[in-house]
Amino acid sequence: MLLGAHIGISGGIENAPFTARSIGCEVMQIFSKNQRQWKVPPLAEETASAFRVNLVKAGIKAVGVHASYLINLGTSDPGLMRKSREALTEELRRAEAIGAIGVILHPGAHVGAGTAQGIENIAAGAQEALAATSGAKVQILFENAAGAGSTMGQSLEELSEIGRRSEFEKRVGYCIDTCHLYASGIDYTSEAGYGRLVDSVRDTLGLEKVRFFHLNDALFPLGSRKDRHANIGEGTLGKEGFRRLLNDRNFQATPGVLETPISDDKDHPYRSYEKDLETLHSLVRTGR
Ligand SMILES: [Zn+2]
Ligand SMILES: [Zn+2]
Repeated sequence: MLLGAHIGISGGIENAPFTARSIGCEVMQIFSKNQRQWKVPPLAEETASAFRVNLVKAGIKAVGVHASYLINLGTSDPGLMRKSREALTEELRRAEAIGAIGVILHPGAHVGAGTAQGIENIAAGAQEALAATSGAKVQILFENAAGAGSTMGQSLEELSEIGRRSEFEKRVGYCIDTCHLYASGIDYTSEAGYGRLVDSVRDTLGLEKVRFFHLNDALFPLGSRKDRHANIGEGTLGKEGFRRLLNDRNFQATPGVLETPISDDKDHPYRSYEKDLETLHSLVRTGR
């Protein structure tokens, strides 16, 4: 797996690749804008091209853009639906401009309308955003959910049902979050458990459709349905859950990024990432 982390963009989006490099990332994830705001000024072409240049300079091999948490494609509320679809379209445009492989998206919540309706809404929303950016290569990568409330995509079956509905088959893939998997009740810490997970990914999403990983330990126990991340090896998932995944040849060229808690130290917020990356690297077998 190619390892990296989610990097903040407060120092300018175009500088984020250097921050990533400085802490030892091979790949990275960013928000392409303030993720708590619906409307933002468009990304200037100079900024996008500076980002692409700096990515090469920093030797970062792949970038994923995490979509804003405000977006809920699963909603049946017409106003929120419209805003969510437009915001996703803008996310795709920005991600394409900076050369990202995909926009990582939480599928959404049906908020009481039921799973079937929620899935319909998500599929239609994704379809609209993909059609509006039909010349682009950038993908939507649906992320598995921990299972809180009415969020969808907590089982791999449900996640694949959401993804399979798109006509833009090549532009739809998945991001698997290790914490969310564990919180949703999938135990892959044992060899047998990991084997079952891989079989189930193969049968539902398709191994080649998993294009990104979020590498997070879990703060709460197996099946908690709580989306709370812990630093690697310090949570309930523990190092064993990561060891098998990191040494799985199916995912040897797939990007995997940390979204673990950052340090309190204001001058060195990513010290914790450095430690987590070190832990992850220590779990990779060297082939000797
Ligand atoms: Zn995640
Ligand atoms: Zn999470």
